[in-house]
Amino acid sequence: MRHYRENFAESKLLAETVLAETIQRGVRPNPINFMVWYEYLLKRDAFVVDRIAVATDHEETAVELFNHIVSRICVMNEIDGLVLKLVNDIISDIDGWESNLERHTQTLEQALSDLSAKSDVNLASMVVKNVVESVKDLTDSARGMKSKMEEVRSEVDTLKKQLEVSYKEAHTDPLTGIGNRRAMDKFVAENLDENSFDNFSCIILDIDYFKRINDQHGHMVGDSVLRFIAKLLQQASKGQDFVGRFGGEEFILLLPQTSASNAYAFAEKLRKLLQDTNLKLRNTQDTLKFTASIGVSTYRKGEMVTDFINRADNALYVAKGTGRNRVVDEIEAANTKFA
Ligand code: GH3
Ligand code: MG
Ligand code: MG
Repeated sequence: MRHYRENFAESKLLAETVLAETIQRGVRPNPINFMVWYEYLLKRDAFVVDRIAVATDHEETAVELFNHIVSRICVMNEIDGLVLKLVNDIISDIDGWESNLERHTQTLEQALSDLSAKSDVNLASMVVKNVVESVKDLTDSARGMKSKMEEVRSEVDTLKKQLEVSYKEAHTDPLTGIGNRRAMDKFVAENLDENSFDNFSCIILDIDYFKRINDQHGHMVGDSVLRFIAKLLQQASKGQDFVGRFGGEEFILLLPQTSASNAYAFAEKLRKLLQDTNLKLRNTQDTLKFTASIGVSTYRKGEMVTDFINRADNALYVAKGTGRNRVVDEIEAANTKFA
């Protein structure tokens, strides 16, 4: 199993960022700290992300997280091993069960042919005795098989629970706790159908000049802003809506039963909400302000989902190019030409 799937360029970028961030923060880039920060920047392990975000003592937290990461790697290896062992065990049990059955079937067949060939009473009772023994053996074997199967079932239950946790993790963005792209695909598959046209909308929202926030306050404050915005978007939307992280500092909202004009009004409400929000920083007591640019599209009859989402993305691009801190819908986007 490969624990790190980044290619060379991605890995190099992460390593460089680890060095820059640790040095900037006065954290020694030793192997323990390095591994922990690398994992933190990967943002696939919610525990690591959460603990670093609230850490007060970096060295102590780093050791705790290092242990956590190493044991996670060991557990993944163990799950692989467990599944393999389980499958091998079942196959060898079934093999044993099969050869046992075959042996008993032969005995019973022999007994039947002996019985029909001869009418000797002694022989008949011997044959019956053999049959009874054979059936008894079969019953024992079935009982053994049953208890083995119960053991297997409880192991499968454990694996199922571990898989459920992995499934949830695979659909969650670990930094913000909201859905990721995979969760978005699932939401679309379950909620959008051929009758959704003109009544299913998409909002894509990108924070303006987010790089500046990172540059001025550091990556971790940037992360807090992302968490804060994710929560804000979730609180502002209805239970039936999907709120997910679309990329670095981009969020996506999918709104079932929402027309183009309602989606536009909602996007405008979100834009104002973000513009009017003051985020107080814990360490410095500084107040941070930010805005977002937003693109809106509405599903058209029979179109591909990617076209529907690309139109919101394109409208966002137009919002960026025409001043930022704006909502642009697909009609305005189609009518706007800028260099
Ligand atoms: P624009 O108004 O054009 O959107 O400008 P921008 O600076 O927001 O956009 P740009 O695409 O130039 O930079 C996006 C920045 O977002 C750069 C990247 O480091 C940062 N970013 C992406 N993902 C994360 C993250 O998970 N955490 C933090 N802190 N920053 C992130
Ligand atoms: Mg941005
Ligand atoms: Mg962006």
